[in-house]
Amino acid sequence: MARVSKELYSRKLQLLQKDTTGGPESKKLLQRLNAQYALAHTLSQHEDRRATLSRVLEVIGETLAWEVGSLWVIDETKEKLKCEQIWEAKPGKNNAFIAATKKVTFELGEGLPGRTWETKHPQWVEDVTKVSFFLRAKAAVKDGLHGAFAFPVLLGGKVLGVIDFESHGVRPPDEDLLKMVGAMGQQIGQYLAHMQAIEEQQSLLEQLRKATQKAEQAAIEAEERASEMDAIFNSLGDALFIYKTGGKVVSVNPAAVKLFGFNPVGMQRHSLIGKSLLRHRHGDEVTPNEWPSTLALAGKTVISKYLMVRNPAGKDLMVTCSATPIKRQGSVTGAVMLLHDVSQSWQVEKQKDDFVAMASHELRTPVATIKAFAQILQRHLEKSTDEEVKKYVSKMNIQLKRLNNLVDELLDATRIGAGLLDLHKEKFDLEKLVRDLAEDFRNISDKHAIIVRGGLRKKVPADRDRIGQVLLNFLSNAVKYSPKSKKIIVTIKESDGNALVSVRDYGIGIRPEDQEKVFDRFFRVNNKRGERFPGLGLGLNISAEIIKRHEGKIGVKSASGKGSVFFFSLPLKKSL
Ligand code: ADP
Repeated sequence: MARVSKELYSRKLQLLQKDTTGGPESKKLLQRLNAQYALAHTLSQHEDRRATLSRVLEVIGETLAWEVGSLWVIDETKEKLKCEQIWEAKPGKNNAFIAATKKVTFELGEGLPGRTWETKHPQWVEDVTKVSFFLRAKAAVKDGLHGAFAFPVLLGGKVLGVIDFESHGVRPPDEDLLKMVGAMGQQIGQYLAHMQAIEEQQSLLEQLRKATQKAEQAAIEAEERASEMDAIFNSLGDALFIYKTGGKVVSVNPAAVKLFGFNPVGMQRHSLIGKSLLRHRHGDEVTPNEWPSTLALAGKTVISKYLMVRNPAGKDLMVTCSATPIKRQGSVTGAVMLLHDVSQSWQVEKQKDDFVAMASHELRTPVATIKAFAQILQRHLEKSTDEEVKKYVSKMNIQLKRLNNLVDELLDATRIGAGLLDLHKEKFDLEKLVRDLAEDFRNISDKHAIIVRGGLRKKVPADRDRIGQVLLNFLSNAVKYSPKSKKIIVTIKESDGNALVSVRDYGIGIRPEDQEKVFDRFFRVNNKRGERFPGLGLGLNISAEIIKRHEGKIGVKSASGKGSVFFFSLPLKKSL
């Protein structure tokens, strides 16, 4: 490109030479015209900034016939000029001067470039070896350089840099040339400003490109996530409902449409509730305030609640329902409700329950009758001297009592399962009940010392027999699971408006991971030491249900190998 342009300039020069009279003045004029033309052409090429500036030095130097040219720019500190580019007409002829140029920096007013910076005007030096301010004079002498000029690169009166040229001959001042290079300085300044604008624009474009790329990537990822979510949503066997804050159903999956038999999208929560689709296990309709989605929209989480759903065929399905609020920056923006059909496993569970209910019901009468007869037999034998028969009958009675208790436990468990555990509340003396039961136990087992501590003056509004059943369960467990210790401490007291009863034993204890589970139906701790304790794993589950129905609390604190404290509390102020 540079070579083609050069050829073009020299052809133009030849043309101009032919057209003029050919004196030295006109030669000079031609030379300057050529320099201006070459500069304008170079600056219009929009090559990269560095390449253009190097070409600028070359075209000025060559067209005006100077030896060395340098471009000085103001450094980062804004306090010094330093050389950014150097050009030589004949490379290798001015090594000393070029080395000095590369090394030196100029402050404002210092040396030829510094003076040009300060005055903002072109400067002429006839012979650099004769003036004291020319700091590179020594090197200039070495390379035989004498004449010099410099001009500022200006933009709107601001100096952006300085260009200077040196020649081998002494050069008398040339005002016209100075004027011309002054104008050139402005042109170069404008070019630099233009390039800076282009560079800034390019960097902005680059930033924009990167941001767009990032946004595109994020959009692709979001789309992928959305399609993953869609796939999960659509293939999920559970019915899923998404609600907005106002209670409108905004989205459901195919399983939800199948379960209800219609598409509830767009329906208001209340019109959906109005269709009485959800029922409790015992058949009552789930009221609007009880709907899991209502609770979730109020910020609460519902986990696996057993409910019934009537399907399009009119069949009641058992589902577990979970609902959770959707939150953005702490406030609820919607809710998700999930219905999981457990009808099949529920059916199996129900058959099991029905069997247990039927079996325990059928067993109850014969067992009670045999127990009654065995007691009569025992009484008849009181006067007998046949000690062996007396012993067997007594043992039979103990086992029959256990059998009777087991049947009662099974019956209670089935009642609880069906939600049929009835309570007969009355105000009674809980302390007396505790002391009476402790006394009964002392009579049954003399292996354990049962100590009762504390007291309670107030009467408790509760079902006396059922609370007695809980205490009995605690006490019999305390005896059963502490075969090697002798002491059981029962404490009764009032605490924060509640009656608090605890039973402490010093037996085998319960591992932390099992402590919560002991209240589950049929849960029994797996005894690794091989000790066998009889039981069904129902007593604590029944106790928990009884205490829950009284709005009280039940719990355990225990340490493996050290013993357990089972406790329950009952509110004293509850109405009957
Ligand atoms: P079970 O008829 O098996 O005793 P429970 O429901 O009364 O049924 O108790 C459940 C399980 O909790 C028991 O099988 C036993 O592993 C554990 N457990 C209950 N009470 C105690 C106790 N005082 N000490 C240690 N383990 C206990």
